[in-house]
Amino acid sequence: MIRTACPLCGADDAQDLFEGEDHNFGFAGRFPVVRCRGCSLIYCNPFVSPADVGQFFDSGYAAHDVEPARATRRRGRDVWDRVRPFGEARLLDLGCGGGSFLARMKAGGWRGLGIDPVARAIESCRALGVDAIEGTIPGVDLGARRFELITLRGSLPNLPQPRETFEVLRRHAAEGGRLVFNAFNVEGWLARRCGRYWLGYDLPRQRCHYSRATIERLLSATGWRVERVGYRRRPNLARRNAKLMAMVTGGRGWRLLAARKGLLSALVTLTAWLRCSDEMWVRGRSV
Ligand SMILES: [Zn+2]
Repeated sequence: MIRTACPLCGADDAQDLFEGEDHNFGFAGRFPVVRCRGCSLIYCNPFVSPADVGQFFDSGYAAHDVEPARATRRRGRDVWDRVRPFGEARLLDLGCGGGSFLARMKAGGWRGLGIDPVARAIESCRALGVDAIEGTIPGVDLGARRFELITLRGSLPNLPQPRETFEVLRRHAAEGGRLVFNAFNVEGWLARRCGRYWLGYDLPRQRCHYSRATIERLLSATGWRVERVGYRRRPNLARRNAKLMAMVTGGRGWRLLAARKGLLSALVTLTAWLRCSDEMWVRGRSV
């Protein structure tokens, strides 16, 4: 475990929020979560070092596997797919996993490069005919390469140095380059209701826990500006969370939500409409 100052603003002045547990995979331990008094970023302190975080993933973690069947099937459904190729159509996917996303984007006209710290993921990318490098940002030397689109699918909250990462990515953005990523929304309705039991914290794998305000701070501090923020429905996460809350609190409301799929789904739709659902996706543009 490593203790640090705030990974966003550098202030070493944080308020203790709670000690959480791993409610997703069930690994043992208690993980302290704090809020920076300088910029209000919520983060784990201390946090699991990048070298050790692998022990908190199931050996069968699906994101690193080959998924050829999904390579073409799901194109068009994700927000990332809606950014049409422009300029030289160069795409960098940070935390590329097994490469099915890049294969799908290649079919849509993008020329993709993946980066992932997991060797098995890189092998899988190559098996799919996708160009990929093992490593992290900062870390991998991209030379003078530039990209029209940079994507981080689920990897932002896991980054140990988000500010440094976004600064490096900015240097590799082409003129008018876009950055598209998603993150759990720590100010969402469910996060506020569930507190330390909210599954979106995904402790201890996620290091930072973002709100719209802290995402805007991260982008403006690193040479990007927010172009659009969208709110996604995560009904499966909400259902698992309602079950957990029913178990922990025994509350009638949670038991009702856990049992009534339609009711919970309607509630999740409402939270997305009110811009307080569990997940945000963000499109930024280089300044
Ligand atoms: Zn801070």
